[in-house]
Amino acid sequence: MKAAYRRILLKVSGQSMAGPDGFGISTPRIRGTAQEIADVVALGVEVGVVCGGGNIIRGINASAEGLDRTAADYMGMLAGVMNALALQDALEKCDVNTRVMSAIEIKQVAEPHIRRRAMRHLEKGRVVIFAAGTGNPFFTTDTGAALRAMEVGAEVLLKGTRVDGVYDSDPEKFPAAQRYDRVTYREFVNRNLGVMDGSAILLCQEHDLPIVVFNMEVPGNLLKVVCGESIGTVVGA
Ligand code: UDP
Repeated sequence: MKAAYRRILLKVSGQSMAGPDGFGISTPRIRGTAQEIADVVALGVEVGVVCGGGNIIRGINASAEGLDRTAADYMGMLAGVMNALALQDALEKCDVNTRVMSAIEIKQVAEPHIRRRAMRHLEKGRVVIFAAGTGNPFFTTDTGAALRAMEVGAEVLLKGTRVDGVYDSDPEKFPAAQRYDRVTYREFVNRNLGVMDGSAILLCQEHDLPIVVFNMEVPGNLLKVVCGESIGTVVGA
């Protein structure tokens, strides 16, 4: 198998770290994700990963229940750090070298995010797990993923989800929903297609960074996407 990309940025949602009830951290699940990433690293691809935190807390939901939004968002970013540490452990058990870099300083557990250092780690073949999103409340890890992808010069942003691409309506609610093979940034935002945060899409549009939305729940899919197989939906110009 031959990789279609030299450097990628993978966004892994908190959901894909969770057990069957959608909450918390499932070690077997994370081990599966780590193995998928290890298979890509074995092809010589440089991999950055951004972990979500929605399996533990989502700021917007917690604030709807009465928690201060800013505090809830910081908690969400810290949840992303916990997921990053779990993924780091699982990757190292697959013999993959890793570094966790956090957008919120937390030196005892992760390196601070320093772009040049991140680039060096990637060049050396280490998987860099970017934790704590953008480091700012009122954002999501999708935006963090777009930001880091551009900073490190990734050729593509791979958004792993539990559906196999972008649909014209929610496929979990509407069985007749149609999947797009390709969709433009503009269509995505104008039609409010969900799956991914609008500000992340706009950032990618501005810098012409292609996004592939694909089903990360199917074993082998990540490798297929990295090898250029057309599964999922490409969001581009
Ligand atoms: N978050 C934030 N700023 C960021 C990234 C994340 O405030 O730059 C908070 C926000 O509350 C978000 C939570 O962290 O709901 C978890 O991230 P996200 O919802 O993106 O996780 P995912 O849905 O990918 O699991």
